[in-house]
Amino acid sequence: NFRALVLDHVDGKLRAEIKSLKIGDLPEGDVVIRVSYSSLNYKDGLAVTGRGKIVRSYPMIPGIDLAGVVESSNSPKFQPGDPVILTGWEIGEKYWGGYSQYARAKADWLVPLPRSMELKHAMSIGTAGLTAMLCVMALEEHGFPTEREVVVTGAGGGVGSIAVAILSKLGYKVVASTGRKDLHSYLKDLGAHDIIDREMLSQDGRPLETQRWGAAVDTVGGKTLAGLLRSLSYRGTVAACGLAGGSDFCTSVFPFILRGVKLVGVESVVCPVETRIQAWDRLSHLLSGDILDRITEVHPLSEVPRLSEEILKGRVRGRIVIDVNA
Ligand code: NAP
Repeated sequence: NFRALVLDHVDGKLRAEIKSLKIGDLPEGDVVIRVSYSSLNYKDGLAVTGRGKIVRSYPMIPGIDLAGVVESSNSPKFQPGDPVILTGWEIGEKYWGGYSQYARAKADWLVPLPRSMELKHAMSIGTAGLTAMLCVMALEEHGFPTEREVVVTGAGGGVGSIAVAILSKLGYKVVASTGRKDLHSYLKDLGAHDIIDREMLSQDGRPLETQRWGAAVDTVGGKTLAGLLRSLSYRGTVAACGLAGGSDFCTSVFPFILRGVKLVGVESVVCPVETRIQAWDRLSHLLSGDILDRITEVHPLSEVPRLSEEILKGRVRGRIVIDVNA
């Protein structure tokens, strides 16, 4: 028997409870993984509290990320003992996820743990860090004036913290946007050369503002994304991946037709495995264990419901790793 956090409706109310399950209870798949760590993302917060329409069917084991060791495999791609990472692919939404001591999954979803990386650090990164890397890769692919500043919104959160660390390691002048004054020194430690109050980016303004940003990684959306588009430099690019501040935004065509700016969408859920392997390889070189430890807090499975409320309130700093065996 093993332990898992199970979400289900009891008397019409959504409940998250730690339950004892058997391997035979796990859904179909060709690889069984002994999970070491999972993580907490904004989407997990929405799933566990039931505040977003994330979970497709109940009972559900939430957790969109996991890292562990292959226990048994019917696929030639993986052998027992192989350390693996699984993020996205609708686990914790449509398929059972990472808040569990065991998981069964499709071999095609798995990424081998990069050689120099520990399982815990893989979950310090998780979907949030993979998304940050994919945003940076999108900026590189689409180009931008690299001598200009790169702004990261929602910098105190998971995607934001890792984006700040990666971009600064790559040598860009990173400006971290945050609403939390107490995070300024944390963000400077991660490599931000300047901090901007998030209110400054979400104010209404003229159709075009003074050109400032060469590029942006935006985890906030809403008015913030509209503001970024107005103040991007000529041929600047914004990689949009989040909606922590709202899903709708209102813009004019002027930034696009007068400054040739680009708005690029980034998604991490069904991103092809080849791209993931490339992203994880780069992450393993760009992020030291030391910097990941500074970004991360580790908590036991039982803390997931409380922390889910916290992440939705924007009170989580950096990344939360869940030790499913604690
Ligand atoms: P997180 O840790 O909660 O970070 C979000 C950050 O956004 C917060 O820490 C806060 O930063 C800022 N924020 C929160 N509420 C805000 C508001 N009302 N207005 C302005 N800023 C606000 O979440 P995460 O896991 O990093 O995810 C960030 C976003 O990216 C979420 O919307 C998530 O759904 C999305 N995401 C998308 C993908 C994808 O595949 N596209 C993958 C991962 C995440 P400060 O306190 O520093 O201001």
